[in-house]
Amino acid sequence: MTSTIAEALRFRPGATVAGLDTSATPGFDGAKADAAPVQAARSERLAELQEMLYASSKGADDHRSVLLVLQGMDAAGKGGIVKHVVGAVNPMGVRYTAFGKPTPEELEHDFLWRIRRALPPPGHIGVFDRSHYEDVLIVRVRNLVPPEVWGARYDEINAFERELVDSGTTLVKVAMFISLEEQKEQLLERLDDPTKYWKYNPGDVDERLLWPQYQEAYQAVLDRTSTDYAPWHVVPADRRWYSRLAITELLIDALEGLDLSYPAADFDVATERRRLLDS
Ligand code: AMP
Ligand code: MG
Repeated sequence: MTSTIAEALRFRPGATVAGLDTSATPGFDGAKADAAPVQAARSERLAELQEMLYASSKGADDHRSVLLVLQGMDAAGKGGIVKHVVGAVNPMGVRYTAFGKPTPEELEHDFLWRIRRALPPPGHIGVFDRSHYEDVLIVRVRNLVPPEVWGARYDEINAFERELVDSGTTLVKVAMFISLEEQKEQLLERLDDPTKYWKYNPGDVDERLLWPQYQEAYQAVLDRTSTDYAPWHVVPADRRWYSRLAITELLIDALEGLDLSYPAADFDVATERRRLLDS
């Protein structure tokens, strides 16, 4: 069942964002109630693997890390993934960064400058809540830089990610998609509940009005930056229970691919036991 989800979500050349059923649950045959016990068990598995990744970096010279890249329109559920999926693992081994509108300092540098500074240290799971892809999404849709500048970024991103992979970082790139109707529901919920006002941004409505342009920009991202070394995964996200399970599976899949094990003791266990008992 598990790698079925990961397999089903991998972006396939030719697949279109416009043709996506955002309420589908690829690779999972059940309903919400069926997912709950699976989610609990798989969150535990994820936590175990994350501990192993962290432990490996304390051993010999294992510099590997994992980087979860979360992209999606407002209310697609990125925050929920951070809270529920990433929240199931030990925060000690997580490096979380949210990328908003660049600061004046960030704007003085190349678009990858702030990204490089946020990369996960060895043994960590890095979490990008938005990412360098904003520089070919909102930046493209809003014409924040000339077309030749954002146009060159796809290749720059591919080269950057190649570099990351070569240095031991496994990328898990996830594009979360909700329908326009579901986004409206989600944003309305924020307005209906004073404890959710903090999540609401009037600018979200302006981006929402540019949905077709965003779809086009997302399509270009998938078409041009899904590589064999850093593929995209397309996650239908109308059903939050599904997107959570799906991204849990994607992380498990990546971590299992690392063939992790706990590092051996670099001391003599029997001697240490004796010393300790005698102390
Ligand atoms: P949120 O994730 O809801 O806090 O919103 C962050 C906002 O910052 C979104 O509207 C993003 O599109 C925007 N943003 C992120 N990165 C960039 C960027 N490089 N240039 C311009 N806007 C960005
Ligand atoms: Mg927002």
